[in-house]
Amino acid sequence: MPSDSVLRLVWIYPDLLSTYGDQGNVLVLEQRARRRGIPVETVHVRSADPVPESGDIYLIGGGEDRPQILAAERLRRDGGLHRAVARGAAMLAVCAGYQIMGSTFGGEEGQPVDGIGLLDIASGRGGARAVGELVAETDPALGVPTLTGFENHMGVTRLGPGVRPLSRTVVGTGNGDGTEGCYAGKVVGTYLHGPALARNPGLADLLLTWATGAQLPPADDTWFTRLREERLAAVLPRQ
Ligand code: GLN
Repeated sequence: MPSDSVLRLVWIYPDLLSTYGDQGNVLVLEQRARRRGIPVETVHVRSADPVPESGDIYLIGGGEDRPQILAAERLRRDGGLHRAVARGAAMLAVCAGYQIMGSTFGGEEGQPVDGIGLLDIASGRGGARAVGELVAETDPALGVPTLTGFENHMGVTRLGPGVRPLSRTVVGTGNGDGTEGCYAGKVVGTYLHGPALARNPGLADLLLTWATGAQLPPADDTWFTRLREERLAAVLPRQ
């Protein structure tokens, strides 16, 4: 992204996948960019509309099983997201959106449903719903502090060799194998709601850095820090 241009955020399918407040991720990115003097333009792409290819950061949220299946079909047919990622766009995909990025995921009866194949992952249905707070140690290569959030999903996700785990779970289920989320290139997938970027401003800044190619000046994180500390104190076992 050239230094004088606008940062373009694309919020995918708010009419299908916006159940758990994940739209807050868009607001956090907008605010954190603007506070650093980066102008922002956000496009909300409804599921009947084509996904623009010229975005810098794409966001997709969690949702119920049926809208998730519909969203996967439409994204596959549309192809815009693939072209955007091939161009080097960054992306944050949460829960249902995360599962959609893989080769397959479990439908409402556990039937395999095709994903869109942007991440080397495959999801199915686990034996029990994973609900509750999640704390996970982030891959040190990313320079992002411990992740916090909450999860609510039936899915279990297997990571292939083409992705790295985003983090290792301390509390909660995540992918179901001791890891939580994954990333490849500039594409991040996670089970974290909260919304994830309000709980984890370091993750927001990672996406902004990837998208702008610039070192970001520090932001005032008083409120973010308070929220993180409160949640971590409530969730982590007392020492
Ligand atoms: N329907 C998916 C599951 O239960 C995703 C749920 C979600 O997005 N929170 O695994």
